[in-house]
Parts: sequence; structure tokens; C-alpha cells
Amino acid sequence: MKNKDLKEYKIKPPSKYKFTKIIDDLYWARLPLPFRLDHVNIFAIRSVEGLVIVDTGLNNFETMTCWNSIIKNFEKKIKVSKLLISHHHPDHIGLSKFLSEKLNIKVYAPKNEILRAEKIINLSDKEYGQMLSNKYEEFGLARKAVLNAKTRGNFYRSMIKETPFIKGIDRSFFIETEYGKWNVRFDTGHSPSQLSLYDEVRKIYLCFDFLLPRISPNISVGIEDSENNILGKYINYLENVKNNFDEEWIVFPGHEFPYFDPVKRASSLINHHENRLDLLYKSIKIKSINVKTAMDLLFGSIKNDHDLFFAICETKAHLNLLLNYKKINMKKINNQIIYCN
Ligand SMILES: [Zn+2]
Repeated sequence: MKNKDLKEYKIKPPSKYKFTKIIDDLYWARLPLPFRLDHVNIFAIRSVEGLVIVDTGLNNFETMTCWNSIIKNFEKKIKVSKLLISHHHPDHIGLSKFLSEKLNIKVYAPKNEILRAEKIINLSDKEYGQMLSNKYEEFGLARKAVLNAKTRGNFYRSMIKETPFIKGIDRSFFIETEYGKWNVRFDTGHSPSQLSLYDEVRKIYLCFDFLLPRISPNISVGIEDSENNILGKYINYLENVKNNFDEEWIVFPGHEFPYFDPVKRASSLINHHENRLDLLYKSIKIKSINVKTAMDLLFGSIKNDHDLFFAICETKAHLNLLLNYKKINMKKINNQIIYCN
């Protein structure tokens, strides 16, 4: 099937109990998530060496049940050759230990994603809580949020529990199939070095969480790396997409539906972030603000601890870009970061 034929083909959400063949060598399943994101897309590529599974879903009972039935529904003679992990977030890496043991396969991921996963997973509840509450204090959040953070524990580990041995891969990695060749790229933004897969000839791009079709991917500083200009790096990625893809490419994201034209999507995400940067820049020109006030400007009212974590860390990423490009200044007053003219 060619890309242009897919335009005519109505793409329905696939089952959570089996892989659905979507194009030539590419298979798709959709696993449930117990938060607003609702589901995660997982893929499998039928290579000349066997099936390469990409991503796993969270480590919970429901996802395990889905996988048990996906595996039961595999074709009788199919060999599963490896598990690839796109990035360290729990909905992508969560069940990697279970799958590697159940299918007796090795697990591969970008080196920086493995390092980030190990760094966070090895923190005790107390260490994680202390680190998060220190940051929340620096960001100017209310006393209640700072105390909540201290007792919340390591919620990253709670969604994964443990990881298997994961082997790092570099740009020389590729997947050869009967229909083409999938190369890898590594990009920084939504995570430190997310793997994505593309077939240049057939113009198919598995972008995972970097180019979601509807929502803007969360671009957050890591709590242990909070001065990083992660948004600047993500905007570089979006510019790279504009220069290296065109409207004929079909994109398979980690959440929601496949779509055409990654260039159009990258442009609209650049606009989205530029509007937010502009809003913060103009406010800071008038009055100094802390990260919490900046978050209120960008996100309005926040409903729960989960949303607060993403909103404050994404706000910090925007402020870091403005500071990095010398548009604003920063000072520390009583352990709180203040952004000023
Ligand atoms: Zn993610």
C-alpha cells in the first residue's frame, strides 16, 4: 500500500488486544492509559530477522492483560527479534522488563534515555520528594504544593517499578524489512534523546511523542536538570523537520492518529511556543515574575499535582529559553528564582 492510498483508507483506532497491520511491514496497537492522554500507540515492524516491537505501555495489570492477548494473537511461526524503546517516559518503557522476560528478547534504547531512566528510578522516595520540593520552592509555588511534593514519593518509579538490562544504540542502528529500511534519529525536546524511525523512500515517520497531531507535546525541564534550554533544542528539532520532510510524509505518533504533512505540524508547534514566549517576554518587560506567576500566565488554573508538575516544568523550559537567548535576566531572592528585565 502506498501513502496516497492510505489517504483514501479510513484509519480506525486499532485493538488493544492484537496488532493491526497498517502499512506493508508496520503494525499498530493501542494500549489504555489511566490519565487524560487516554492511550499510547505501540508499533511492531516485521523485519527480515523477525518482529521488532517498539514501546510497551505502563507497568500495570491492564497493560499486562493486553500484552498477554497480543502475544497470544501473534501468527504461529512469527519470531520476535527485539524490543525497542523510544524514550524513558513510563507509558513507553514501563513494561519492558515483563516483555523482555516473557518473549526472551533483548531491549534497546538511546543511551541518554537509558541514563535518564536509571538516574530517576534509583532515587528513593525521600530523595525524589526532597529534590522536587526544593525545586518547587525555587519556582515560588505555595507552601502546600512544596509540602505535597515532599511526600509524593518517586511517582516515576511507581509507574515502571523496574527496568531490564537495556542496550544503548547509536545512529548506525537500522531495521531492514522486505519493503524497505527504517533508519533512526535521536532528538531532544520532549525527552533528552528520543528515538524515532523513518523510511526515507516510502516517506513514513514514526515520531512517537515529538510531533503529536493535536496536543502540543510536553516540553519540560527535568527536575534534576532544571536550567537546561530544552525548548531551544526542541525548536531546533521542529526547524529540522521543516527542512527535511515534506507534505507527502505520513506520520505515526505515540498518541492519537496518524496524519500527513509533518512540516505543517512543525510550523504550527513553532507558532504555539513563540506565542507563549512572547507573552512571557512582554510580561517580564513590565514586571519581574517568578516561575509560578509565569505558569499562571501560560496555563491558568491547575487541577491536580500531576498537571502542576507538567505545567511548572514546561513554564521553566520557556523561561530558560528567554534567559539563554539573553532576552531576560534572572536573580535569586530568598532561594526563589526571579526573572526580570
Ligand atoms: Zn513521552
